[in-house]
Amino acid sequence: MNIDLAINEGSKILKSKFIPNPLLDAEILMAKTINKDRNYILLNSSDNINKNDLSNFYKLIEQRSLGNPVAYLTKKKSFWKSEFFITKDILIPRPDTELVVENVLRLSKQKNKLNILDIGIGSGCILLSILKDRKTFYGTGIDKSGKCLKISKINAANLKVCSRLKLYKSDVDKFNLGKYDLIISNPPYIKKHKLKYLERDVAEFEPRLALDGGLDGLTEIKKVIKKSARLIKKNGKFILEIGFDQKNRVINLLKKEGFYINSTQKDLANNDRCIVSTKI
Ligand code: GLN
Repeated sequence: MNIDLAINEGSKILKSKFIPNPLLDAEILMAKTINKDRNYILLNSSDNINKNDLSNFYKLIEQRSLGNPVAYLTKKKSFWKSEFFITKDILIPRPDTELVVENVLRLSKQKNKLNILDIGIGSGCILLSILKDRKTFYGTGIDKSGKCLKISKINAANLKVCSRLKLYKSDVDKFNLGKYDLIISNPPYIKKHKLKYLERDVAEFEPRLALDGGLDGLTEIKKVIKKSARLIKKNGKFILEIGFDQKNRVINLLKKEGFYINSTQKDLANNDRCIVSTKI
């Protein structure tokens, strides 16, 4: 069988299981199977594929048809300007989260040697993207998941920013180290009882720890705001990702902790997604 035919067969299987982008996913999984990029696949689609590769390809197609996200099958995800190593223990970086990076880069154009804290670093996609673009900045990342810290360390090495990064395994409430010019966070903010209504790929495969925001969805955000108020320098900027219906409540929480609200931003789906504030 040739590559093109295998991709079409795989795509048909995915389509029959209602996977949203069957052809694209089949192409990416073929590229993963034969260890080439997607362009190679498209340019060499009439090449034959051996039995072993074909069987591995169908295994990936089967996993995808059960809802397993492509990023977990390929173990990578593009975010901002880099590719991040991803495992099933890590929340897959979302395009919406690039808003946080955009804000930081916009606000720090003339700055040197900023000390940045990322609360709940996950894959490292936010903080490491910033460190890669701003060569004089230093980063500290905390996470309560040791697995996340291992992955973000690997990503830091891949992006060549290790020497400017410190990582700590800690709960947000227990972390008391340092003072920061800038704090960023994409905490878990989904209401506990809404988790099961997320898309199947998310609900069944992504880590609860990175999504579950407790009964009101604000449990972790509240902790992050409280802690940030203590760890941030005066006039420091705090950039937070939030749930689509949390803007007003989070603004109130921020004001109570002494933050001035600079701006809020909407994501690609036009939902409120990001708040920029300053400690006064
Ligand atoms: N934006 C993510 C989602 O849609 C949630 C991420 C989070 O809770 N921080 O699933």
